[in-house]
Amino acid sequence: MTEIQCQTEAELIDGRVHAEAVRRKVREAVSRIKDSHGLTPGLAVVLVGSDPASEIYVRSKAKQAVEAGMASFEFRLPATTGAEELLEVIARLNDDPLVHGILVQLPLPAHLDSSLVINAINPLKDVDGFHVSNVGMVGTGQNAIAPCTPLGCMLMLQRLHPDLKGKTALVIGHSNIVGKPMARLLLNADCTVIVAHKSSTNIPQLARMADIVIAAAGVPGLVKADWIKPGATVIDVGINRIPAPELGLQEDGSARTRIVGDVDFATVRHVAGAITPVPGGVGPMTIACLLVNTLLAFCHLHNIPAPGLQPD
Ligand code: NAD
Repeated sequence: MTEIQCQTEAELIDGRVHAEAVRRKVREAVSRIKDSHGLTPGLAVVLVGSDPASEIYVRSKAKQAVEAGMASFEFRLPATTGAEELLEVIARLNDDPLVHGILVQLPLPAHLDSSLVINAINPLKDVDGFHVSNVGMVGTGQNAIAPCTPLGCMLMLQRLHPDLKGKTALVIGHSNIVGKPMARLLLNADCTVIVAHKSSTNIPQLARMADIVIAAAGVPGLVKADWIKPGATVIDVGINRIPAPELGLQEDGSARTRIVGDVDFATVRHVAGAITPVPGGVGPMTIACLLVNTLLAFCHLHNIPAPGLQPD
């Protein structure tokens, strides 16, 4: 076990503050576009079924789009919706000139093939950045729509480290929606990137080499203080609900829960140089980046120069 250095207190990277700065920039850009071009960026969100968590996300995305001055279109389809019907909705949205961003809320019910559905979206309107064409373009360092969560992490990182070149970054998790695109964006910024996952056997040693650790495993408290190089930047993507007996019982008698990240925040904050909390870190940046992607898609579709959206 490495001795933990406890003399420091990490800078707290406040995702809520960053996200508000990004949303303000988007709002101002949307307002300028309305004044100069008489056009309104539009975001369409498609929800199949009534998964409670997805309902909350969809409501929040629509609300924030409206607050940014965008048009918001919601399509709520029953859980029994067939692939053909869903693909018809997507085809209509692809052709709709008022819609510049299309997001199909995941996960889809088990009978629907999410790759088939996502790849049916016009890649220029794919504001989640999951279409295989956008994945390939980001992977080859081309200008394309990047997935919202890794994009949010990059905006926060670039603020802390205006030049990421040559930094060693460890990404823990290699999912298609977080870990892999995160690694590709870091590589595009000329970081030296290590990707670890559930079959990796030496994550603590890999972490100790890293100037930047991005935890996206979905394992509460996975990243320990003695994994972290003193002064490193730690970005916690994890959102995990754990029982919290200290909060008492719910009305139905079950234990209340609380949200924690993948990082043992209470101890890691004394070793890291900067750290995101959970909640209030990466989460708020994800929806802010959905607005960024919708605005960028709009600009691309209308051949309007894209505004700078990095928070000041
Ligand atoms: P996922 O389950 O698809 O992938 C998890 C990844 O972590 C896999 O690559 C797996 O190999 C790896 N992993 C699992 N256990 C591990 C371990 N013990 N050690 C090392 N690697 C391990 O999850 P996901 O969709 O990528 O999401 C990851 C986490 O991020 C989840 O907690 C999720 O809720 C959260 N998330 C947050 C946001 C946000 O906006 N903050 C967005 C998306 C996902």
